[in-house]
Amino acid sequence: EANYTWPADKQQEKLLGGLLSEGLDEKSCVSRYQFARYRKGPVRRPSPHLISRLRSYEALHKRCGPYTESFNRSLEYFKSGRYNSSAGPADCKYIVWLTRAGLGNRMITLASSFLYALLTNRILLVDPEAHFSDLFCEPFPETSWLVPSDFPIIDEFGSFNRKSRRTFGNLLKKNAFGSSKAALVPSYVYLHLVSDYTDDDKRFFCDQDHTVLQKVPWLLVRSDLYFAPSLFLMPSFQQELADLFPEKETVFHFLGRYLFHPANAVWRAIVRYYNDYLANADETIAIQVRVLDTGDAPFKQVMKQILGCVIKENILPRVNETLKGLPMNITSGISKTKAVLMTSLTPDYFEAVRDMYQEHPTVTGEVVKVYQPSHEEYQHSKNQMHNMKAWAEIYLLSLSDKLVTTAKSTFGYVAQSLGDLKPWILYKPEDYKPNSDPVCQRGVSMEPCFQAPPNNDCKSKRMIDIGKMVPYIRHCEDMNWNWGLKLF
Ligand code: GDP
Repeated sequence: EANYTWPADKQQEKLLGGLLSEGLDEKSCVSRYQFARYRKGPVRRPSPHLISRLRSYEALHKRCGPYTESFNRSLEYFKSGRYNSSAGPADCKYIVWLTRAGLGNRMITLASSFLYALLTNRILLVDPEAHFSDLFCEPFPETSWLVPSDFPIIDEFGSFNRKSRRTFGNLLKKNAFGSSKAALVPSYVYLHLVSDYTDDDKRFFCDQDHTVLQKVPWLLVRSDLYFAPSLFLMPSFQQELADLFPEKETVFHFLGRYLFHPANAVWRAIVRYYNDYLANADETIAIQVRVLDTGDAPFKQVMKQILGCVIKENILPRVNETLKGLPMNITSGISKTKAVLMTSLTPDYFEAVRDMYQEHPTVTGEVVKVYQPSHEEYQHSKNQMHNMKAWAEIYLLSLSDKLVTTAKSTFGYVAQSLGDLKPWILYKPEDYKPNSDPVCQRGVSMEPCFQAPPNNDCKSKRMIDIGKMVPYIRHCEDMNWNWGLKLF
């Protein structure tokens, strides 16, 4: 049963039932204090345990964050390459998130890394290469989440990959941790949780192998996957996770709302667009189109799929093609309006949908207006303006009443989870066969999908059906062959 509440007063609205801390400056991050205004529905309430863990995380981050005494001490361990754990674990431990891929990927991996940090009392620091300050406000009060620019191996961050000597998998293979009682351990380990990870890298998700990492003061992680669901399959984390998230499908929702607040420039763009085009509609519909390979997904076919989905699912009305012009009752001012926000790298889908509703009246008499904020043509994730537009669009998608997404796209995952929306998922156009039915499916939850989870049993090492291990995790609707893991 969902735990909802309406923002009863301004203070509560501001802090989302205690999810957000009070110790931040309002002017430097207006979106933290305004975003509840742009949500029509009720707000979910975080569990008291999550609230208390976030507050203690913030205190820890402040004590161990960049340039503190503890941080400087920890840096010495890092530089020496080894850590002597005979006197116990280091007083501050870290997980450094390294950047990879597009914005959606970055956000789902960062949220997963933060969850891991909460579970293991580590401090999350982010790779400055991602240029987050243009996109997001700093989430933790009175400190910073950015790796300082003079960090020892900062120039080498980009080169960590599955072949690196310091991957967890390679270190395990070389028996670098010695026996379980050995005091001397590597002072930093690189976790390679990218889709091409090896079976040894995947041992990160096995309790018996994972234990040695408790002694290691520094972890670096690079990922392109929403790996949070696999943490729910590790017995050592299960109780804590159950306390943090009584409603399993809210994991990204809460972590995302906690971490990802648009920086002021992006927020201004979001608010302007929302007020100009979406605020006055009776209902807002968002359609996220992501076509990776246009060769396999010709325009006509994708178009047929989009329209097939929105009409069949009663998301948008049909038009009367024999008539031209606007609906009859528009002049009387009683027609309902639907605003459609489309996002895509190209303008063609938007133009076709817009023209259809401009040229013909709808059979219901509703007025449908169609908008697309940008068409960037190509992904260029190193360009900051491009990333700012992407973030603004993800956010605008999340503000819709109904959301249609494209299968397997992390861009859509973030929008649906932030927005507390169970999306209608368009099967990947590349996978879609003409005349196949259905063309879209409603998601079972708002959670992102972990697209390439480990699927070996930790003890027997044999392949098992990981979608059947616990009642709140299943395979993803948007993956072929019953693949992937999703909380619901
Ligand atoms: P995924 O590849 O669909 O999983 O999503 P990612 O966000 O990780 O990577 C895709 C990147 O391409 C985005 O971050 C944007 O940079 C760009 N992109 C893809 N679709 C859109 C879109 O509809 N609008 C904008 N502005 N950028 C997009």
